[in-house]
Amino acid sequence: MPSDIEIAQQAQMKKITEIAASLGLPADVVEQYGHYKAKLDMASLSTAQQNEIFSRPDGKLILVTAISPTPAGEGKTTTTVGLGDALNRIGKQAMICLREPCMGPVFGSKGGAAGGGYAQVVPMEDINLHFTGDFSAIAFAHNLLSSMIDNHIHQGNALGIDPSQVSWKRVMELNDRALRQVVIGLGGKANGQTREDGFDIVVASEVMAIFCLAENLNDLKQRLGNIVIGYSFEGQPITARDLKADGAMTVLLKNALKPNLVQTLEHTPAFIHGGPFANIAHGCNSVISTRLALKLAEYVVTEAGFGADLGAEKFIDIKCRKTGLRPDACVIVATIRALKYHGGVDVKDCSQENLVALKAGLVNLEKHVENITQHYGLHCIVSINQFTTDTEAEFAVVSECMASLGVKVVLAEHWASGGAGAERLANEVVKQIEANTSKLKYVYDDTDTLWEKMRKVATKIYGAADIAASRKIKTQIEKLQADGYGHYPICIAKTQSSFASDPTLSGAPTGHIVTIQQVRLCAGAEFIVMICDDMVTMPGLPKDPCATRIDIDADGKVVGIF
Ligand code: ADP
Ligand code: MG
Repeated sequence: MPSDIEIAQQAQMKKITEIAASLGLPADVVEQYGHYKAKLDMASLSTAQQNEIFSRPDGKLILVTAISPTPAGEGKTTTTVGLGDALNRIGKQAMICLREPCMGPVFGSKGGAAGGGYAQVVPMEDINLHFTGDFSAIAFAHNLLSSMIDNHIHQGNALGIDPSQVSWKRVMELNDRALRQVVIGLGGKANGQTREDGFDIVVASEVMAIFCLAENLNDLKQRLGNIVIGYSFEGQPITARDLKADGAMTVLLKNALKPNLVQTLEHTPAFIHGGPFANIAHGCNSVISTRLALKLAEYVVTEAGFGADLGAEKFIDIKCRKTGLRPDACVIVATIRALKYHGGVDVKDCSQENLVALKAGLVNLEKHVENITQHYGLHCIVSINQFTTDTEAEFAVVSECMASLGVKVVLAEHWASGGAGAERLANEVVKQIEANTSKLKYVYDDTDTLWEKMRKVATKIYGAADIAASRKIKTQIEKLQADGYGHYPICIAKTQSSFASDPTLSGAPTGHIVTIQQVRLCAGAEFIVMICDDMVTMPGLPKDPCATRIDIDADGKVVGIF
């Protein structure tokens, strides 16, 4: 089997104008970035054309989520692509909505995020590297605010910003642990106020979250204005609007806000727009692209990041709660290999049949299924992303276990054979949507206190015994509650590798305590970030980063992205 990048480089792509035409869109809306990528400018349509599109009934929304990630691999993006292709193959009209890959993990250990095998979005290299420049625009908008804060302090500090209480950090789109904590303004008075600062990765930026939750340009600007960057000496919140930064930040984002259109290897249209991580942010692609996709296609397949305890929880408790969007079906991706890993097998031995470990590891899948069906109120289908090393006996074990819970399991082979390999999955999904048995539930209510919200997610979804925090953190949470932010949803930053906040606890741990180490107000995104245990919002590179293997030859051919 050729590598992901080899398959992608051999793809016979259609011109992006043709893909847009297949969605019934006039050429006027297509802003081309080369031949195979475009942004869609819906504002360029006449009011009548816009009304026609936006008054259509919504298509059906299919959420793809997964078991807790392991180094053995799961394949949510691959499944999202394969399912979209398969729906088109069985005569439905489908498109997909994904998040934009971040270059931090591309050069780190994950590699690309454009699917794999014969279920990929293309042009793969471009999508993984810079794409249409959205992340750059988001980083610029974020850092513009940072520079305006420090400049304001330097130029006399009319707002009385307390430099020791500035919580707005700087961002960049790389994994760079050395920048987690820095001191800025060194070298004397001319270089500004000396203070402690730090960098987050751009996908954890509040601007990224705002970008993905905004309904339109106006909403984007309002939300950017509402960002609280820190507090004054008197303890009053200082906003981006107080600094008059909201207008310029919006200008930097005006083109980025238009959805990006690309295609799968089988020419299924794909929106790839916005890209917060699901472990340190809310993990969903932009609301604008999801809403537009639902007007342009009969079925829309979308992925929420990491396991169903992270991406899917935030998809429901943040994205659905705030927008009224509702998934009509839910697919939970698992691999036999990853289940064996959850059952205690070392990653290098995951290719060997091991029914005992598989049975032990199924607890992870069972807990995710319980969360989806009981706590999110959604009916779900388990899709086993087939690896060549899986055995029939192993598949039978998974099917039997899920049958006892009344959950359908399908073997999906799209990685090896494209959309044709996911037709069974597509048929099951359509059946599930037609049966219409899901009734979405939130894990907590708006009226619960912030502490109670956190406790509900930890105990119901993570299987924790309780949550804990230092006196200092508790006081901060109480202050946010008293300041009128108690009705916000929470966005939990937690390791993706476990239900617990300790990444080494695989399977389905219970009885653990989730400790809140940091709390951040995101008044523009309208949620409160709760950072658990050792979670950091700027990742580091691994010992042997992918960057050492990414290269280009004399003919301009790129290698090493996977
Ligand atoms: P996720 O979205 O869950 O992070 P991806 O779909 O991006 O996972 O897949 C991660 C990696 O695993 C990709 O490089 C992909 O090629 C590989 N992969 C996915 N499915 C399979 C499979 N069935 N067999 C072999 N490799 C696979
Ligand atoms: Mg993915």
